[in-house]
Amino acid sequence: MCEITCPDHRPQMASVRPNTFAAVKVEGATPTIETVTLDISAAKDITITATTPKVSAANSIATASKIVALGRGANDDELVAEARLIATRLGAAVGVSRPLTDRPDFTVEQQIGQSGTTVNPDFILNVGISGSVQYQIGMSNSHLIVSVNRDNQAPIMAQSDYTFTGDAKQFMQALKKAVQV
Ligand SMILES: Cc1cc2nc3c(=O)[nH]c(=O)nc-3n(C[C@H](O)[C@H](O)[C@H](O)COP(=O)(O)OP(=O)(O)OC[C@H]3O[C@@H](n4cnc5c(N)ncnc54)[C@H](O)[C@@H]3O)c2cc1C
Repeated sequence: MCEITCPDHRPQMASVRPNTFAAVKVEGATPTIETVTLDISAAKDITITATTPKVSAANSIATASKIVALGRGANDDELVAEARLIATRLGAAVGVSRPLTDRPDFTVEQQIGQSGTTVNPDFILNVGISGSVQYQIGMSNSHLIVSVNRDNQAPIMAQSDYTFTGDAKQFMQALKKAVQV
C-alpha cells in the first residue's frame, strides 16, 4: 500500500479497483472514456518474451450478484461441498476469506478483501468469518448481508442485516434443505 501525491505535474494517473466506488451521475458533467491501444512493440528497450492473456473466471466474485463466503470457521470438506451445492442452487458464486486460500480447492481469485477482490453483490452470506478490517473493506458495499458465526460478538455480526449465532454446519444443513429443488 502506498500513498502517491502528484500535485504539480500533469497528466495524472490513478488505478481504481472494481467495485470500490459506486457509479453516480454528476449533473452537468459529461465524462468520457478514451481507450488507448498501447503499442509497445516499437519500444526499443522492451523485449517481449511471452504474452499470457488474463481471463477472468466466468463465475468471478467481482461481478456476482449473490455470494456464499466461507471463512476459517467453515474450513471443513463437508461444509465446503455443501456451500458449493447451496451456491449452485442459489445461482451464487463462492468466495472465501484469506485463511481458506490455503486450501488446495481455493485460490486468491476467490478471496474477498483488501488483498483480494472488492465485491458488491445484492446478497452475501458469510459463514464462519470473523469480519477483520481487511475482509470488511472488500464487502461492506454488499446490499444484504447475512452472517453465521458461533460468536455473536464477532465484528461481522454488527455489520450484518441478519445473523445466526450458532454452528456453521448446523446452519448450512438447514439451508441446504430449505433451497432444495
Ligand atoms: C495486509 C493484510 C491484508 C489482508 N487481506 C485480507 C483479505 O483481503 N481478505 C481476508 O479475508 N483477510 C485478509 N487479511 C487477513 C485478516 O486480517 C484476517 O486474518 C482474516 O480475514 C481472518 O479470516 P476469517 O474471518 O476467516 O478467520 P478468523 O478471524 O479466524 O475467524 C473465524 C470465525 O469463525 C467463527 N467460527 C469458528 N468455528 C465456527 C463454527 N463451527 N461455526 C460458526 N462459526 C465459527 C469464529 O467465531 C470466528 O469469528 C489480511 C491481513 C493483512 C495483514
